[in-house]
Amino acid sequence: MNFNLEPCGKNRYRLSPYGDMQVEALVFLSPKLKAQFGESEALKQLADAASLPGVVSPVIGMPDIHTGFGLPIGGVMATDSKTGVVSAGAVGMDINCGVRLLRTNLEAKSLTTGKLEKLLAAIEKRVPSGVGKSSLYREFREADLEAVTHQGAAYFIRRGYGFPEDEASIEAGGALPGADLKAVSQQARERADQLATIGGGNHFIEIGEVEKVFLPEVASVMGLQEGQVTILIHTGSRGFGHQICTDYSARMAQAASKYGIRLPSKGLAAAPIDSPEGRQYLAAMACAANFAFANRQLITFLVREAFEEVLKLSLEEIGLELVYDVAHNIAKFEEHKGRTLLVHRKGATRALPAGHKENPARYLATGHPAIIPGSMGTASYVVIGTERIGETFNSVNHGAGRIMSRKKAKSSLSPEELQESLKGVLLRAKNLRSLLDEAPVAYKDIDEVVGTLVDAGLTKPVARLKPLAVIKG
Ligand code: 5GP
Ligand code: MN
Ligand code: MN
Repeated sequence: MNFNLEPCGKNRYRLSPYGDMQVEALVFLSPKLKAQFGESEALKQLADAASLPGVVSPVIGMPDIHTGFGLPIGGVMATDSKTGVVSAGAVGMDINCGVRLLRTNLEAKSLTTGKLEKLLAAIEKRVPSGVGKSSLYREFREADLEAVTHQGAAYFIRRGYGFPEDEASIEAGGALPGADLKAVSQQARERADQLATIGGGNHFIEIGEVEKVFLPEVASVMGLQEGQVTILIHTGSRGFGHQICTDYSARMAQAASKYGIRLPSKGLAAAPIDSPEGRQYLAAMACAANFAFANRQLITFLVREAFEEVLKLSLEEIGLELVYDVAHNIAKFEEHKGRTLLVHRKGATRALPAGHKENPARYLATGHPAIIPGSMGTASYVVIGTERIGETFNSVNHGAGRIMSRKKAKSSLSPEELQESLKGVLLRAKNLRSLLDEAPVAYKDIDEVVGTLVDAGLTKPVARLKPLAVIKG
């Protein structure tokens, strides 16, 4: 199938009508990304999403777009809260996969390779990585699941696993409303022993450095300056969220015909927001989202402990304050142009503009930071949305996005090539061969991807971070 993209503005393309599309689909690509773009399946997925009942124009493909399950990764789909649907596949398997950025008072040049190695080891001793790993700590494995899933990060912050200020620096305050553990299957509950773990492959804890500040005044509000050590934590709701997505995708697929919904693909199984399946999915999704916020909070606590142990300094001296925590696989009710919409972001990050009332007070005048990881060998960005960000339902890309499928990366790269491409970044991983699909060359050029939305007038870069040392799942 040939999908045609018509230019309709700077770095902006409109997908020519296809199938039963009810609304427009837009894709943001720079000329260079457009020239390398070979994701016709991802375009079909956007067209499919644009055919769902109650979908609101436009469905959006971000510059990091690549094919996913149902909706592409790098996809945004908003639906009307009264007449629209919710799709578990359009949120994604790893509900509330997201990124957290911590700042420090440390200068990168003060961390020798030996220190970095000790820091990685001290973190790894506390935070297991890899698929299926459960928490090392009984208090987390056996935490009160109802309280965790209903209260999110706050549950642990109030018990001393964090600074009280952390709560205000998390999207939605670290707890989505409407969570109800009764909507979660027994099978999913049995997979809830993975708090304080990062999970497989693409997830990571990265020690980095602020390489460049683009907007000094905004960076200073975020506590960021050149040469400073930062930490990125990328993980989500682990097996718990995965099981919830699996359970509800199947239920939605089964229920669709009862509501007269013609499903364009299995991955886009959807139910009316205002139906038992829709309401229960949203209650279960909020449980997984809150579990993920709690997960990143506990990892933050353990990273702080590791830094104290290795550097023999107090947290007051080290810093390690939370800059922000943003989700990139989630659906949320949000107001846009006077309507309440359910905005599905799958591999897309919220970026509220300056002045938006849902910004935390400290970021009201700037807009909150949106955190965009690139790869373990290149760079990552902190950006803010501009006054035009409403055009994408206040959303930006979530990463560089894949240019090489996992399969292709595994078959065409060698461990030596991967090591070489890391250019001195320390990497802790069980084995390099299993991380070939995480090689920097498997991802698009992060500068190009971020620049695409900057040139389209939607975002501004605040700072670029470079990796120093990484623990990968
Ligand atoms: P995803 O949530 O889609 O798995 O990953 C989000 C983004 O993280 C990817 O598109 C990629 O650009 C970026 N990424 C993957 N691995 C790493 C890493 O080890 N370090 C950094 N900084 N970014 C990464
Ligand atoms: Mn992710
Ligand atoms: Mn994830």
